[in-house]
Amino acid sequence: MSKTMQRTSFWLAFAAIAAVSFGANGSASASAIKQTKGDFEDKFRQLDEVLPTPNVYRSAAGEPGEQYWQQQADYQINVRLDEEKRRIDAKETIGYQNNSPYILKYIWIQLDQNIFRNDSRAERSATFGSHPDTDLRGIDKPARISLGELRRQQFMTDNELGFAINNVENGEGQSLSFTIVGTNMRVDLAEPLAPGARTSLAIDFGFNIVEEDAVGARSGYEHFPDDAREGGNDIFLLAQWYPRVAAFTDYEAWTNKEFLGRGEFTMEFGDFEVNIDVPADHIVSATGVLQNPKQVLSKEQQRRLEKAKTADRPVFVVTEEEALENEKEGTSKRKVWRFAAENVRDFAWASSRKFMWDAKGYQQGGDVQPLVMAMSFFPKEGGDLWKKYSTESVIHTMEVYSRFSFDYPYPTSQSVNGPVGGMEYPMITFNGPRTELQEDGTRTYSLAEKRFLIGVVIHEIGHIYFPMIVNSDERQWTWMDEGLNSFLDGVAGREWDPSIPWGVEPRGIVDYMKSSVQVPIMTQSDSVLRLGPNAYSKPAAALNILREVILGRELFDFAFREYAQRWMFKRPTPADFFRTMEEASGVDLDWFWRGWFYSTDHVDISLDRVYKLRLDTQDPDIDWERRRQEQADKPVSFFVRRNEIEGRKTWVEMNPDVRDFYDENDRFTVTNKQRNAYQSFLEKLDPWERRVFDRAIAEDKNYYVLDFSNLGGLVMPILLQMTYADGTTEDYRIPAEIWRRNTKDVSKLIVTDKEVVSFAVDPNWETADVDIENNYYPRKIIPSRIEAYKSERGTDHISRDLMQEAKSKLKADEDSDNDEN
Ligand SMILES: [Zn+2]
Repeated sequence: MSKTMQRTSFWLAFAAIAAVSFGANGSASASAIKQTKGDFEDKFRQLDEVLPTPNVYRSAAGEPGEQYWQQQADYQINVRLDEEKRRIDAKETIGYQNNSPYILKYIWIQLDQNIFRNDSRAERSATFGSHPDTDLRGIDKPARISLGELRRQQFMTDNELGFAINNVENGEGQSLSFTIVGTNMRVDLAEPLAPGARTSLAIDFGFNIVEEDAVGARSGYEHFPDDAREGGNDIFLLAQWYPRVAAFTDYEAWTNKEFLGRGEFTMEFGDFEVNIDVPADHIVSATGVLQNPKQVLSKEQQRRLEKAKTADRPVFVVTEEEALENEKEGTSKRKVWRFAAENVRDFAWASSRKFMWDAKGYQQGGDVQPLVMAMSFFPKEGGDLWKKYSTESVIHTMEVYSRFSFDYPYPTSQSVNGPVGGMEYPMITFNGPRTELQEDGTRTYSLAEKRFLIGVVIHEIGHIYFPMIVNSDERQWTWMDEGLNSFLDGVAGREWDPSIPWGVEPRGIVDYMKSSVQVPIMTQSDSVLRLGPNAYSKPAAALNILREVILGRELFDFAFREYAQRWMFKRPTPADFFRTMEEASGVDLDWFWRGWFYSTDHVDISLDRVYKLRLDTQDPDIDWERRRQEQADKPVSFFVRRNEIEGRKTWVEMNPDVRDFYDENDRFTVTNKQRNAYQSFLEKLDPWERRVFDRAIAEDKNYYVLDFSNLGGLVMPILLQMTYADGTTEDYRIPAEIWRRNTKDVSKLIVTDKEVVSFAVDPNWETADVDIENNYYPRKIIPSRIEAYKSERGTDHISRDLMQEAKSKLKADEDSDNDEN
């Protein structure tokens, strides 16, 4: 509806109230508040009383404050991969710059590998969800444990896992004492580190790499026993692999809450130089840029890498033939791959002789990073799926994300196939989808696997923006990266292929939002009951709704980009996001954050009833005739009708000669007394009142009063659609503020020229309304299905025919597939 038309409606609404008022002592009012005493909850209460007080580090606008600071941690690491032992041993030197205003006596280091120890806090606090039970027939049902879980337990028993920390010293070679506390380590400094001062730590460490398929981690090795090489080959994905300095922040000091497996991490930015010593036939992908291509690549491969920079489609740097050749043999020779990365908050790498490698330059333009090398590393198992889509998806992601945030600031952007389903690190991501080897030797993939590949690459590359550059803390607030990133991967996904369901549509989260397993989005990540919907799809859908329904694309995109640019290479908290989105859009969103992020309310707006009202003319010759007609339109008593059907005559009918005045004049008969009263009513009106009244009577519009109830508790705009008698429709959007004085029941007056035949709330499913059946007035019949089924006999121990079964012969191994038992 246009703005002009809205204003007209409000003006007329006032006229209607005034007219009604004359007949009812001025007491009727369309804005009357229905309220139960003591039942009021202010869903629009401002959020500042919940958010941290703004200070010199974080402003009330949601910007980094004038004294914002963050630490810097630079790393030089030499690491050696022992393929046989599936182990790495390394030495790192950390340069630590204290930019905080505080004196530090110790430095906390994250040791995420320690989560795999049998005595870790994560392992000891794991709960078990299956119990033995008896069903209604009294038959015992055992508890269940998956073979995967048994495999995990066996792996953790058989292998010594977690970091071996051999030595910690400072830059002067002085040994430092350290204390390991689960997945963290406190290193006591020889001298307190003053504000502005720099120190260095050298740590010798090593660990046995976990088998990803056995323990389900963010990194690890995968074994391929069927490769041509005797003993098979491995893919190694190394992440969370070196002792990493814990973040020290203005909002939480040391972020040393123990790693329990879900809430990932936040880190400090810094520069990395990493020398990776691997078998000479391995291909290595890592955060940063390869510094010594001449030592590790053939001349031909270097030429291909150069050609890829300006290619239209990805160019193979290491071809499938070369990868297959590498797969066959193995070598005892070694090569050192040297990588450097600037201003990254982490470093990950992958290594395997199985990798082929394709690359394509993304010509981004601009001053920051005009050329980005998009690259993919994958084994033959990735097949055509990876050849076609991985590197292209990497580039598509950067194109869309940069539009919403900032130019991609790094020189490389990589997608590596391995055993991890999907995980992100700066400039490098691990992505799991594969092709399937068929009996005829070809490799095929399902539509689901194709969607998974494109979707996961977009998602993980997207994470390089959030949280690898916009450095939020997932250990506290998973939604800040998973939610923001899922929202944007949905935007990018829809721009890739809108026929693929990207999992961020409002309608997709309604089952979760009405469920009993929902917890507020703001819940700390390890305590969330259902991580997928809580950290990914609900915040993504909420942001989608914020963009498309509440703010509109222009305001949302401006504010979101402002957030991304304010906080790139810095560490935002939820308050910084909430404040920036409000401050930059100019729209009060406290009710939105409260409802969507701090509560478990859901959206369920019901259109309970609709009244159609006609403005009284006050002229008795018109109004009383209308009332007479209304009376005539009502059904007469059915029991009176039954008397007529039976042919029963009334006394009056049987005695027609006995009639009087009231048989000719009903109660709607107008006399001059009423006509005089009407005249004096008109005379008492002020000139402006008379003009208003006469116009309203002349226009004789349709007045509809709609009663809404908020059954879900979440206050939301009401997206109303009217269908007129002539078949046309019109949208009328009511802002969420309609609920500000009564969050449960509100009524709205809608005035139209044309007659409305039906109203619908949110007909396009934009708001995640969980019950759409109560969105229609009049209601609709619900189309659905019913299925006939055949009853089956029970198959438990007492139902089986033991007499017959006892006759079965024992089968040889090869035909045990056709087991008759
Ligand atoms: Zn993610």
